[in-house]
Amino acid sequence: MSSGIRFEGVTVAYGGHVVLDSLDLTVEPGEVMALLGPSGSGKTTALRAVAGFVRPAAGRVHLGGRDVTDLPPHRRGIGMVVQSYALFPHLRVEDNVAFGLKARKAAKEEIRTRVAEALDLVGMAHHARRHPRELSGGQQQRVAIARALAIRPSVLLLDEPLSALDARLRSGMLTELARLHRELPDVSMLYVTHDQVEALTLADRIAVMDQARLQACGTPRELYRAPANAFTASFVGNANLLPVTVTGGGVRLGEAPIEVATGGATAGAEATLCVRPHLVGLGAGPNALIGTLTDLQWRGATHRLYVDVDGHRIMADLRELEDPPALGDRVTLHFAPRDATLLAAGMSAAPRPAAPLAAGAGDE
Ligand code: ADP
Repeated sequence: MSSGIRFEGVTVAYGGHVVLDSLDLTVEPGEVMALLGPSGSGKTTALRAVAGFVRPAAGRVHLGGRDVTDLPPHRRGIGMVVQSYALFPHLRVEDNVAFGLKARKAAKEEIRTRVAEALDLVGMAHHARRHPRELSGGQQQRVAIARALAIRPSVLLLDEPLSALDARLRSGMLTELARLHRELPDVSMLYVTHDQVEALTLADRIAVMDQARLQACGTPRELYRAPANAFTASFVGNANLLPVTVTGGGVRLGEAPIEVATGGATAGAEATLCVRPHLVGLGAGPNALIGTLTDLQWRGATHRLYVDVDGHRIMADLRELEDPPALGDRVTLHFAPRDATLLAAGMSAAPRPAAPLAAGAGDE
């Protein structure tokens, strides 16, 4: 049976400091939601609130429409995978995977079938008799995933599951997790990561966290094409963020008029213009900006240009140039009005002190 996750005003505090601030978020049944944000932004805390390992100071957690806030972890029907695998070293792979089923007193035959099925799903059936120490990191993480799936959870929580793996293995496991999601379309997944590539690759939607708060939530495409604020723009993909002023006559970068198709800023406001580096062109065109080339990086298929325009550093990612400009050259960049997003001032996630709570509230 499929079930979603709903956070309703969930607040968690340690020692009186709020580390998760009134989180409202819904993960639809069968959806993969990534919680993306820098270290310390409250992602793991949110996950642990769903698992039942941390008690909210305020708010409720719902699973499949049922309020589970007061249920102990083992009664929530959740599978969980953490960064460090956390396999039992003295147990064989099959016994590790059987662990949750045995704890639930499942029948022998059922355990056998489900363990085989879970190991099959992660391609580890042929290593069922091995001990964790006889497996690579990637294989151990597969076993940890099989163990979480063996109880057939309707919700799977993944906490930085790939961060202990090297880059090559990480990329292979990403592909496998995507396949797993296709094979288990009813399982809702909440996936904690600080890595935007993982979030963009895997997630149906991404919830961007910073400083204990949800900053934005949307499909990868929405967040990339039309970020709601400067923090989201710079955390999901690369971004040129330029301070502009909005007047009755239009948008200006310094003295230069800028044409923009979208955005929420109103006249009289200071605002930030977001332009993705791959949407900046070289040479004359709309919204032309003239500056000095300060750095040039060859990246194989592309060139990355850094151009100083009146003290603003602008990045442009261009298809490999046959005859690139030289450092110190004056160059002209441009971008189409539809490729720029105007972010209203005040929506850029400014640092906020954590709100104090009554000491001890919600502490573990
Ligand atoms: P993230 O997963 O985004 O890196 P966490 O949710 O782990 O962030 O942590 C959020 C904040 O809460 C951090 O400042 C962290 O130091 C603090 N924190 C997490 N767990 C505890 C704990 N058990 N006791 C005290 N502070 C904690």
